[in-house]
Amino acid sequence: MFYRCLRTFKKSQTRALRCFSNTATSLDIEKFPNEAQVVICGAGVMGASVAYHLAKLGWGKYTVVIEQSRIGGGTTWHSSGLIGVFKPSLAQVKLTKSSVSLYKELEQKGLSTGWKECGSLNLARSRDRMTVFRRMKAQSVSWDIDCELLTPEQCKDKWPLLNAEDILGGLWIPGDGVGDPYETCLSIMAQAKNMGVKVFENCAVKKITHTNQKVSSVETDLGLIKCEYFVNCAGFWARGVGRLSEPVVKVPLHAVEHYYLHTKPIPALDPMLPGKVRVFLCHERLSYKLFDCTDMVELSPE
Ligand SMILES: Cc1cc2nc3c(=O)[nH]c(=O)nc-3n(C[C@H](O)[C@H](O)[C@H](O)COP(=O)(O)OP(=O)(O)OC[C@H]3O[C@@H](n4cnc5c(N)ncnc54)[C@H](O)[C@@H]3O)c2cc1C
Repeated sequence: MFYRCLRTFKKSQTRALRCFSNTATSLDIEKFPNEAQVVICGAGVMGASVAYHLAKLGWGKYTVVIEQSRIGGGTTWHSSGLIGVFKPSLAQVKLTKSSVSLYKELEQKGLSTGWKECGSLNLARSRDRMTVFRRMKAQSVSWDIDCELLTPEQCKDKWPLLNAEDILGGLWIPGDGVGDPYETCLSIMAQAKNMGVKVFENCAVKKITHTNQKVSSVETDLGLIKCEYFVNCAGFWARGVGRLSEPVVKVPLHAVEHYYLHTKPIPALDPMLPGKVRVFLCHERLSYKLFDCTDMVELSPE
């Protein structure tokens, strides 16, 4: 069964209100610059992260972020916020670990990221998937990732609502968790701004110009900025932004559909019980379930 995008009014309303209150406070009133070292296109979680890390390296004053709508208002706003440490390469594992450390650091500073280290339960319904999990377990030793192979009974113990009849086993990754992507994006961008980064919302990048095969300026709704570097953080729109460049930069990106469902609270389910799993992934069904205090998200093509 395909679930179409269905969101509870409560969730959309909360986020819309957050979006509104952010707009009111985050508008930059500084004069639009005609020069910068770096221009970042897009203020999603990626643009915020690039701005933050450049600022940490001392480039804050020379970095400008251009966002056609609102900070975090693109794909970041829709994300479920699952953060899985296990990735196909060690470089990606290190990136994810460093993201998690950053979220913890921001939380300690009182900046919200919604980070909750609730662990994830990955389920196998086929022998092949179980083999993958065994390989992951072996790999986890050299990549220093804490994880545990589980029997179907142990899976059920972690997740009592599970029908374990067709489950061959599972992989429990306690260091996985969930965050609030929108809050995270706002918090990271706030830190970048504190370090001098200028962010302009409701302003679109129109053209990227090169001189001698090097970026020389970026044309926007609010004017032209001469710059040395241009960073395309337009996510879903990145291919289109590549085409705004002269000569055109080909960005190999193709968007696909992603279905999800938000439910009302489920009475029998207390996701806040200590030790109870909150992220549950079944690769054979291409589905996951994410539980938080008020609702559940599910993606399932069946
Ligand atoms: C339903 C759903 C669930 C997801 N769940 C997860 C998950 O659980 N875990 C996970 O890790 N990832 C998840 N993702 C993926 C994740 O949301 C994205 O990878 C991430 O948010 C991308 O961030 P971004 O900054 O690259 O893009 P975006 O957040 O889309 O930001 C790009 C920004 O660029 C701006 N822009 C575009 N063109 C221009 C222009 N010409 N001028 C100025 N600005 C421009 C846009 O307005 C936008 O704000 C999910 C995605 C979806 C849709």
